[in-house]
Amino acid sequence: MPDTVPLGSPLSPASPASFPPPGVRHVVFDVVGTLVEPWPTVPVAYQRAARRQGLECSAEDLRGRFAEAWRRQEAIDANSRTPFATSRAREVERWRGIVHDVFAADAPEGVRETVFLDLWDHFADPGAWRALDAGTRLVEAALDAGCGVALASNFDERLLAIAGRVDPLCRASHVFASSELGWRKPAAEFFRAVERRLGAVAGELLLVGDDPRLDVAAARAVGWRSLGVGG
Ligand SMILES: [Mg+2]
Repeated sequence: MPDTVPLGSPLSPASPASFPPPGVRHVVFDVVGTLVEPWPTVPVAYQRAARRQGLECSAEDLRGRFAEAWRRQEAIDANSRTPFATSRAREVERWRGIVHDVFAADAPEGVRETVFLDLWDHFADPGAWRALDAGTRLVEAALDAGCGVALASNFDERLLAIAGRVDPLCRASHVFASSELGWRKPAAEFFRAVERRLGAVAGELLLVGDDPRLDVAAARAVGWRSLGVGG
């Protein structure tokens, strides 16, 4: 099969024998949008958290505001003195910034902070996530082929608890969260840290992810193979 499945195309592998490709020892999966998705969706989760504080917002408005706030935080990381370096503290500040931005016009700071803490706990709950079938099939194919399976995500330390309790995340033997590695994708340092911890070289690693830039292109740039999924 080709190294990259075009975004939006149905995910194979048509033949499980062709995935993963020969020479791959570890298949490293992105998490959100690849193996699991938030359920309810992010805008609905935000709407419900706001409602618990007496705020009524349209989910459609929240979708747009969230995307804008997300891009703003991405730009902060991209333009920092050490681009895409991160920490547990930075990841908390990133999410605090996103929630405060999203509700900037709706509520005073104290209420926004309450909504932020509510959402922080919400997305730490394994029940807030549901498996994606296509990614789950690829995890099964990787394990059937005798490959190691790892998770590599721009999530924070909340992933460590979720990963043990949500299928198919719980089938991975290693969990790499950006807040723990100190780097976010697409930084090369993120991928190098994963290589060191797996004791593998770039050519033995295949990254599977839904983001063309943060997953597929970033992994290619450091000599990994990569497979784009979803759309
Ligand atoms: Mg993703």
